[in-house]
Amino acid sequence: MLGAKVMARAKINLFLEVGARRDDGYHDIRSVMQSLELSDELYFRRTDGSAGRIVIRCNDTCVPSNAENLVWKSIEEFDSRTGVIAGGGIDVLINKRIPVGAGLAGGSADAAAAFLALNRMFELDIPSDELADMGAAVGSDVPFCLLGGTALVSGRGERVERLEPMPRVQVVLASPGEEASTREVYDRFDALGPAAGSPAEMEVAFNTLVAGIRTHDFDSICSSLVNSLEPATTAPEQVERYKDIARQSGALVAMMTGSGPTVFALVSGMEEAAEVAWELEKAAPITIVTSFAGQGAELSEV
Ligand code: ATP
Repeated sequence: MLGAKVMARAKINLFLEVGARRDDGYHDIRSVMQSLELSDELYFRRTDGSAGRIVIRCNDTCVPSNAENLVWKSIEEFDSRTGVIAGGGIDVLINKRIPVGAGLAGGSADAAAAFLALNRMFELDIPSDELADMGAAVGSDVPFCLLGGTALVSGRGERVERLEPMPRVQVVLASPGEEASTREVYDRFDALGPAAGSPAEMEVAFNTLVAGIRTHDFDSICSSLVNSLEPATTAPEQVERYKDIARQSGALVAMMTGSGPTVFALVSGMEEAAEVAWELEKAAPITIVTSFAGQGAELSEV
């Protein structure tokens, strides 16, 4: 097969507990991640007569088109494990819709899309756990972005366990449009020390959330969202402001996702989503209405 088109879905963290920095520089996390319908669209094409040549084109000029791009790294990782690309090249077109450096795992979603596309294009039928293993070598959120839906994620992100699928909850995202460096946020977290809650409180919140997901008890879900990284955000004023606006305009709950600075608000329906988005738009340079999705990266017809 010459080409493959993939939808690369963004994620939010409904729960994110961050442990101490490990010897390898990573942090152990315990997270409940949720895919969103908000997605980048990627098109991959095999090219002949240009051994090892990778070309990436992206509509967003903030996204690197060289070896810094996670898609590039994924192609190299895939080739180092399978050797199938060596004789030719790969062209990639990225239609970026997920805000960059916003805690929505846009780069990891694109990386997941690359593994899915290459597996299909070279007709290798590599099982999903092996693709996830390759993905983990490129970025901590890649294994989740491959599986998607609602999942419990632990280790540094390489352990992913699917949870009960969630209904199609509406979500409003608000972002200041300035990138947050994930590394900087983790450094700030280390300097601040544990703050989100005592270990016992975190345990109660986590168990309530997971039970709420299993029983479709949306009140329990909304009452138990936690993000350990929120106090370490690079945009504290915007995060607080967006959360206040969302709650005052009818959101059930609002919290920062991942390393931020995007705030997500869960709302009870389309009408409420419109109202919350209307108010957030007055303050936030980027406001997006989307919904929970039941899967991650997805191949689509070319
Ligand atoms: P996470 O939530 O996984 O920490 P994020 O959503 O905060 O990630 P990304 O959008 O993945 O952040 O981008 C972080 C950085 O990664 C950007 O500054 C960008 O330079 C780099 N990057 C590399 N490849 C990509 C890609 N395909 N899309 C977006 N950013 C990319």
